[in-house]
Amino acid sequence: MRIGVLALQGDVREHIGTLAKLACETVEVRKSADLKNLSGLILPGGESTTISKLMDIFSLREPVLNFVQSGKAIFGTCAGMITLANEVLDSASGQQSLGLMDISVRRNAFGSQLDSFEEVIDFDGTTLNVAFIRAPIVERVGEAVQVLSKLSDGRVVAVRQQNMLATSFHPEITGETFVHEYFLKMASSPQ
Ligand code: GLN
Repeated sequence: MRIGVLALQGDVREHIGTLAKLACETVEVRKSADLKNLSGLILPGGESTTISKLMDIFSLREPVLNFVQSGKAIFGTCAGMITLANEVLDSASGQQSLGLMDISVRRNAFGSQLDSFEEVIDFDGTTLNVAFIRAPIVERVGEAVQVLSKLSDGRVVAVRQQNMLATSFHPEITGETFVHEYFLKMASSPQ
């Protein structure tokens, strides 16, 4: 199985390192041809405004939409989650998400870079130590969306909708592999 990582901006290397730990072949995606023969695609964390602009400059918006609409799996962390959402609250001007998941997310919901933190969370029944870096929060989930993680105060930080997975946090930065393993299972059984 080959998994692509959108390699326009953000923590591409950390995702590739995590997939390598799981002995998964990876491809850095910078043009539409790179999506060929992939079972899944990861949208890394970074800056969602920049990622959105670069997707247009690199003519990747339509190909990524087609990839997901064909049933292939996609996983967005942090800025990647924002990129997948169909509603972005506190968005930057001109920011355009892919609008694939039926969720509303609020950008920078915990404050500035200085308010970033690590937290032990439950992800689908498994305890993980993960990083929140200028992270978004999911403020609304549609009917088809499954909640996989909440903070102790009830705020939603990981969701799945069919072949799409999104986390507010970065499991790849603290060395956790479980969420990527979960995603590989999704990718190996296309919807
Ligand atoms: N705050 C960033 C954004 O709005 C996301 C930060 C991250 O991906 N770690 O895109």
